[in-house]
Amino acid sequence: MSLNTQILIAAILGVVFGFVLNLFPDSTFFSASLYGVGLMSSIFIGLLKMLLIPLIFSSIVVGVSNLQAVGQLSRVWKITLACSVTTTTLALILGLACAHLFAVGKGVDILMFQDAMAQHQTPDTLTPSSFFTNFIQNTLINPFKAFAEGNVLAVVIFALLVGVALVKGGEHFKTVRKLSQQFFDIMMLMIGWVMKLAPLGIFALLAKLVATEDISVLSRLAEFAAVVTGTTIFHGAVVLPLLLWIFGKMDPITFFKGTRAALITAFATSSSSATMPLSMKCAQENLGVRPQTAGFVIPLGTQLNMDGTALYEAAAALFVANLMGLDLSLGQQLIVCATAMIASLGAPGIPSAGMVTMIMVLQSVGLPAEAIAILLPIDRLLDTVRTVVNVQGDMMISVVVDRHTREDPALSS
Ligand code: ASP
Repeated sequence: MSLNTQILIAAILGVVFGFVLNLFPDSTFFSASLYGVGLMSSIFIGLLKMLLIPLIFSSIVVGVSNLQAVGQLSRVWKITLACSVTTTTLALILGLACAHLFAVGKGVDILMFQDAMAQHQTPDTLTPSSFFTNFIQNTLINPFKAFAEGNVLAVVIFALLVGVALVKGGEHFKTVRKLSQQFFDIMMLMIGWVMKLAPLGIFALLAKLVATEDISVLSRLAEFAAVVTGTTIFHGAVVLPLLLWIFGKMDPITFFKGTRAALITAFATSSSSATMPLSMKCAQENLGVRPQTAGFVIPLGTQLNMDGTALYEAAAALFVANLMGLDLSLGQQLIVCATAMIASLGAPGIPSAGMVTMIMVLQSVGLPAEAIAILLPIDRLLDTVRTVVNVQGDMMISVVVDRHTREDPALSS
């Protein structure tokens, strides 16, 4: 039975078990079961938290040092970077705007967060100047301290610098590059193990949720899922094709026809990494992107460019804040955007990777990591659509970069 099916069955069983527990609220059965599912969900969330820092570190080091593999093509990577930042920023704005517009999650009181909320500390209101002072003080620190304290931003900066150093060092650092790649592969393997526990974790988290929560959260979840899916589709069907048309001079029909196989594979696998060979093939054979451009942009994009994930994480953070009855200030929303952008850079192209990095987005504005319990039941569903948009973005950027670097002598074969 596939993991997807197992997760679906576990989710249904979890809800049913939660309802059963709800029937006996004052019994020992209720308290013993609640203890059991509480323990199970803590193990699952704990494992995800355990992998977060090493995963982000290795994923970014490998992503940046991939530049080396295709040489120092400064023009290419500058355009790639500009495209990626632009599309991700648009996705973030869209995600936040739609979450605001539809007020997803507003008006629901979640008892599950009582404990977390008791310890909840809203970070000080940030002015841009204090933001930068804090940013510098908290990020340029001893990397070992950053690892030990789970300071994600500091780890990201250190990883970027290590990646750049690996590129600069060239052949001299090839052993470390290989080591980083292998360490990253190990992390991916371990994430795979944790995902095997996902059915149990999801069962436990859902049972706990249904047993202790106001059931109206489920209808709120359906609403959130519809808003996020609709917005992600809008980004993929309107925003990206429009940009492609303006900057890549390619019409959407040609693009979608040529990339259909990769997009369907992305939907089915929920993994941009698994889809990557197909994305390269489609870009080269059907869209006419030269192999040297596709070979650079698509692997890098698979690692670092994820519009769908960024959109989802920004909207989800707002959803959780609304559920908890918290109004995020403009400064906090900017922090959400910045962290969601970093989270989308740090998320590897595997199923539900966004769920792991989501923790960082929630924590950036003092929301409890446990809140991903609410998102888990619908994550696999939303992952399909956001992965399609992630993969679509990579292929679209390869077309734009290829068009604008045709005259670059470094690239002509
Ligand atoms: N599954 C997504 C991808 O492979 C990552 C995510 O979970 O957002 O692109």
